[in-house]
Amino acid sequence: MQRNWKRERESLINSIIAKGYLKTPKIVEAFRKIPRHFFVTEEFLHSAYHDIALPTIGTSTISQPTTVAIMTEALSPKEGEKILEVGTGSGWQACILAYCVGEKGRVITIEINPRLVEFAKRNIAKVGIKNVKVVLGDGSLGYPEEAPFDKIMVTAASPSVPKPLLEQLKVGGRLVIPVGDVYSQRMMVIDKKSEDEFEEKDLGEFVFVKLRGKYGFKD
Ligand code: SAH
Repeated sequence: MQRNWKRERESLINSIIAKGYLKTPKIVEAFRKIPRHFFVTEEFLHSAYHDIALPTIGTSTISQPTTVAIMTEALSPKEGEKILEVGTGSGWQACILAYCVGEKGRVITIEINPRLVEFAKRNIAKVGIKNVKVVLGDGSLGYPEEAPFDKIMVTAASPSVPKPLLEQLKVGGRLVIPVGDVYSQRMMVIDKKSEDEFEEKDLGEFVFVKLRGKYGFKD
């Protein structure tokens, strides 16, 4: 049976708006224009518009839509910005950000697992988003080649805030990152006020896949 993806997507978006997690018109538009069912595996296609995280490849998951809404609203991407995402996974979050920054902006997203780099590239090509660059590497080190960034989003659980990410942020920039142990993290919003002054806000508890690499979890 042919599914009505548009109807399922609208109903998910409306429920996230009703809960108050999706507000900014451009971000709502991004949720409409970047169809989540292009970013899930065949096996979980039937749940593409359920408000739950779904397994993709290896230990990676595509985040829960409400979580993507909360993190995107918190990051507050603006037209023309250059954003770094750590943890590409399916590429869905990267495309949402890319849509928000528009053609004058760019998203660089780093993924440590080569199979996911290929998966994300295929998904991104399907939606026709051009301003995302997918890089294979350890994103806990940031991406010095393209630094500094207006904003940085980490979509994997981090034991602490990796220093290179704070360094690679512009003054006036913002980092959104889940920090904690492997079972639960706090969603931190960190504003860089000057080269050595940061202001933190805590958005509550979340659970993410582990960040690996130099500043990630070791086992
Ligand atoms: N943002 C993704 C979900 C990410 S899940 C989406 O929209 O689908 C977390 C991802 O972080 C996993 O794919 C995992 O392989 C990746 N990851 C873990 N440690 C990493 C590191 N040090 N650098 C880059 N990616 C990492």
